[in-house]
Amino acid sequence: MNIEPVYSSLDYPKKMALVLFTPGCDLRCKYCHNPQLLKHEKLTDLEIENTISEIEDNLDFIDAIVLSGGEPLLQLDVIKKFIKKAKQLDLLIKLDTNGLHPELLKDVIYDIDYVAMDIKAPLDKYYKISDKYPSNVKDKITKSIQIIRDNNVFLECRTTYVPQLLSEDDIKTITQQIQCNQYTLQQFRNRSTYDVSLLTADEPNPEEMREILENLDNNICIDELHLKSGQFGNQTIN
Ligand code: SF4
Repeated sequence: MNIEPVYSSLDYPKKMALVLFTPGCDLRCKYCHNPQLLKHEKLTDLEIENTISEIEDNLDFIDAIVLSGGEPLLQLDVIKKFIKKAKQLDLLIKLDTNGLHPELLKDVIYDIDYVAMDIKAPLDKYYKISDKYPSNVKDKITKSIQIIRDNNVFLECRTTYVPQLLSEDDIKTITQQIQCNQYTLQQFRNRSTYDVSLLTADEPNPEEMREILENLDNNICIDELHLKSGQFGNQTIN
């Protein structure tokens, strides 16, 4: 298993980033677009060293690293090595996480600049998205949000909108259950999915998604709303 770093100008806002995908995740989201990364595999010292060399060799091109997966916190010792190197090189660090590991998050949050946390469904309805999830999702997500906010780290919460799995009311409920700097409603893409039955599911219309965001309650504790779609990229919704 290789980390297979990817260069991206889309994964860290307004920055060029090297995205590192670590293997292993404890969820099995039906729409997961990285199903090849779900199995936990131990990375070898050589793979870790090669990734660190990749970071060092491309300093002229990158401003940030993005720890993604899989669930990067499940490879805590490995990502700590990347974080240490990134700090030494003065790079920004973003963590993509499913939010279900507050006890591990605590260990690295001091060095993170930006967290993008998935909120898969209303916190008592994760069964809609995955057959495999912990029983105390609400407690874990709430704790993760608290840790991030206590450390003044920028928090983006994001939901992949799959009309076959989630309703407009579900999005309303989610946005009432969280507090964050940015909430992003992401368009489901049917190119690669863990549950192959979704390969033939329709992708949601960005206009329909915009309406959902525009209809949200005014009293939610979210600074900015975003819509991310293949057709229009990342848009701010006023
Ligand atoms: S979408 Fe993310 S959280 Fe869900 S199974 Fe895939 S890697 Fe894990």
